[in-house]
Amino acid sequence: MRQLPGSYVLSKFYSHAGEPTFRKFDGNYNASCNICREGKSWLKKKRLYFYPTTNSFYCFNCNQSWNAWNWIQQSCGLTREEIEIEAFNGNTSVDITDRVTIHKQSIKEKPSLPYDSINLCDNLQQQYYGINPCFQRAQEYVLQRRLNTAVNRSTNYYISLTDHFHKDRLCIPYYDRNNKVVFYQTRSLDGSEPRYLNKIGYDKTVFGVDRIDPKLDYIFLFEGPIDAMFVKNGVSLAGLSLTDIQSKQLAEFPFHEKIWVLDNPSKDDAAKDKLFKLLSAKERVFRWKSNSPFKDFNEWAVKEGINEIPYKDILDSLYV
Ligand SMILES: [Zn+2]
Repeated sequence: MRQLPGSYVLSKFYSHAGEPTFRKFDGNYNASCNICREGKSWLKKKRLYFYPTTNSFYCFNCNQSWNAWNWIQQSCGLTREEIEIEAFNGNTSVDITDRVTIHKQSIKEKPSLPYDSINLCDNLQQQYYGINPCFQRAQEYVLQRRLNTAVNRSTNYYISLTDHFHKDRLCIPYYDRNNKVVFYQTRSLDGSEPRYLNKIGYDKTVFGVDRIDPKLDYIFLFEGPIDAMFVKNGVSLAGLSLTDIQSKQLAEFPFHEKIWVLDNPSKDDAAKDKLFKLLSAKERVFRWKSNSPFKDFNEWAVKEGINEIPYKDILDSLYV
């Protein structure tokens, strides 16, 4: 039987069991059992346990055990096919809404990074966590995508092995101009959904404002942070529409010309729509060569084995 992604199972646990808690000392979770309602002790007792290492559940009140599939079927009234679609085909919109509400309730303090984040760029932590498979996977991802050598790379990358929502994902921090982490995005390392997850409950900020060179006349606006790392003065907005914070941040650079760089529209229908919107709004946009085999700037850099795509190449190829 196919193993369900832990983050998916956990999100279901958080939306259906009663007031879940993470037990830091043994790495398991417990909550009020939503199946037996704990007899008459709903929300008074928490005898349902979720064991992430085996992806299984046990209730010490009704003495039932479940694997993740059965428990979700019974708790959410979903068929196996529906679970499969949600867990593996990216239909996570409902889940994320659930998570937002839960997360807002469950965090008291507001940490700037996911819970217990480990810095992938720190030598000591590398030695200590080097044998951990998730840590290794994150390191491989950084190397393979050239995120450690890119011209406009982030100073640090993180991984959390315990955060409810962001665990086992590469965390890319968004710094402000005082080098403080004000936002982050995590991405899955195994292609599982959701592929990108933003810091929950916060408005996105501009990725890369900490590295804008005031002497260069341009700012290149990318959608994703990883693409923005390969161009000087590349920043990422995590989407096309700006939040208030992002507008303010960009307004601090009134003399820089803003130029959009989308994914290659001939490889991606979503980029085609966005291109149309930006051109209708008379924005300046990079024009991909019609024969370019690459879908985005990261793929371009990785396949060519380079750390920088010269910004002059962008300026030489704009829609007019
Ligand atoms: Zn029970």
